[in-house]
Amino acid sequence: MKKFLALFLAGVLAMSLLTACGGKDAAQTDSGNNEVEDTAQPEADAAQPETDETEDAAQPETNEAQDGTEDRAGSEAIADGVLTVGTNAEFPPFEYVGDDGQPDGFDVALIKAIGEKLGVQVEVENMEFDSLVASIGNKIDVAIAGMTVTEERKNSVDFSDAYYDALQYVIVPEGSEIATFDDLAGKTIGVQLGTTGDFIASDDVDGASVSQYNKAVDAVNDLINGRVDCVIIDKNPALVFEEKFAGQVKALDGAQFNFEVENYAIALPKGDTALAEQINTALQEIKADGTFDKLVEEYIGQ
Ligand code: GLN
Repeated sequence: MKKFLALFLAGVLAMSLLTACGGKDAAQTDSGNNEVEDTAQPEADAAQPETDETEDAAQPETNEAQDGTEDRAGSEAIADGVLTVGTNAEFPPFEYVGDDGQPDGFDVALIKAIGEKLGVQVEVENMEFDSLVASIGNKIDVAIAGMTVTEERKNSVDFSDAYYDALQYVIVPEGSEIATFDDLAGKTIGVQLGTTGDFIASDDVDGASVSQYNKAVDAVNDLINGRVDCVIIDKNPALVFEEKFAGQVKALDGAQFNFEVENYAIALPKGDTALAEQINTALQEIKADGTFDKLVEEYIGQ
């Protein structure tokens, strides 16, 4: 209602301006309309200063590069001043879709802080977890997605220094008798497609029938519906889902299943050592200056 009224008033205003002053007013009419639309477009407005900042930051760098002293040019990925980052915003608290419809979470905040250190604009692309690795070097420059460093992935991508320790957890319905690794044998196990939880269920558990999902929450919903017996997923998302579906599911510590500790790192284009060095340096600075701990507190808690 309010918006309609505002549009109507803007229309009246535009009309009167138009009749009052002729040709030039086309521009004024436009800006009048934009003001009304602004309520619906906070993102575009918020994005403006960011772009400006990045462009400002990019200027001296480009000059330095001509002197041969600046190393951003050493990385093809960020030579354009933009770091395009892939994530899968289905993995709270590391990445999820925020209230504004944009990817948010610990990883998103971390890569933005890194981008700031690098003086590049960060653009986040939300995509399926399983296509992240293959998209590095074409659709995206790097991926941050609670991604565990694995030997298999190292065949396709490089990794930054690790920034977080993780462990697979097992989510079960309240009252389930699953408690040890041997109990998983022959069970129907829900996983996120292409994740380390998927690899455990598919490769290590005897006789499991594995249901693969693109969204972790769909696996948990099927657990609640009784379509799967348990869900293997990383600790922090497991704890988030345990809280979200309190009374329906329980998250069991992976230690009681003898799962191995995993390390999260940023996946990088293979061979781009200039980028790896810059990202690792930024990561060290972010840890040293307390930003990292602040982000842990804000997004993950204790
Ligand atoms: N850490 C797991 C992996 O790397 C899961 C990551 C995720 O689902 N975002 O496979």
